[in-house]
Amino acid sequence: MHEHFVFGYPGFEGDKTVGPFDRKKALEVSIAAAERAKAYGVQTIVDATPNECGRDVKVLKEVSEKTGVNIVCATGYYFEGEGASAYFKFRNALGDGLKEIYELMFMEVTEGIDDTGIKAGVIKLASSKNVITDYERLFFKAAAKVQKETGAHIITHTQEGTMGQEQAELLISEGADPNRIMIGHMCGNTDIKYAAKVLEKGVYIGFDRFGLEGFIGCPTDGEREALAVSLLALGYEDKIMFSHDTVNVMLGRTVVFPPALREIMANQHIARIFEVIIPDLKKMGVTDDQIEKIMTKNPEHFFR
Ligand SMILES: [Zn+2]
Repeated sequence: MHEHFVFGYPGFEGDKTVGPFDRKKALEVSIAAAERAKAYGVQTIVDATPNECGRDVKVLKEVSEKTGVNIVCATGYYFEGEGASAYFKFRNALGDGLKEIYELMFMEVTEGIDDTGIKAGVIKLASSKNVITDYERLFFKAAAKVQKETGAHIITHTQEGTMGQEQAELLISEGADPNRIMIGHMCGNTDIKYAAKVLEKGVYIGFDRFGLEGFIGCPTDGEREALAVSLLALGYEDKIMFSHDTVNVMLGRTVVFPPALREIMANQHIARIFEVIIPDLKKMGVTDDQIEKIMTKNPEHFFR
């Protein structure tokens, strides 16, 4: 429900110490990731990369064609602090930013992206830690309008699992259907009362950062598992979906993690859920039926 084959933090385009995009290498790495997931039965992967973070639908198409794995791409912009916010802030200062964002999303959902004819299958939204900024609100409002008109599905980024409830409330108040919303990164906040409050809105929630531990505000997988088990005990098995938020190809200079982080980051790969998390959860009493819902039936219902 939330991975990235190719991703770059906006600004990577300006770092000219890096040569031109190595498409061949990106394809190799992305195909290997898709094949690794496919070996565990994965048929469809959502690539949650926002427009300005190096989204490359032609690469996604080629990965899909070469592996047989369906890839769903996104339309949308990243949160104000880490996205390329200058452009639409400038546009909004001159006129109606909300309308322009709506037009962009509507076009990418209904007509396609660039000249490819590839349509965005999800709208990706994002907010900041403890606040949905005025800039970010433009995207939430535009997305709700596009969803009302097209039925498009919405997935979100919450920063450290904050503002999930507010995201859901904002979208629903703008007319969006909670059954077509997944509030993402809710495994970044281990407060069960908070998670339950978000779920009470009728939306799906993403436990979508498995393998990303103790870094950029993330809890451990053990804490995520405990939260999942508690929410399942409360009866939310129809509303939880899993993912990793892997970045398989990072654009820009080669990322070199300091030694301590290198060890932690070794857990972040596209098979983590299958190799570690599901076996752990089964030991904790989660049933095969519940796993089937989380991994297969819930995404299926979400995309109906
Ligand atoms: Zn992501």
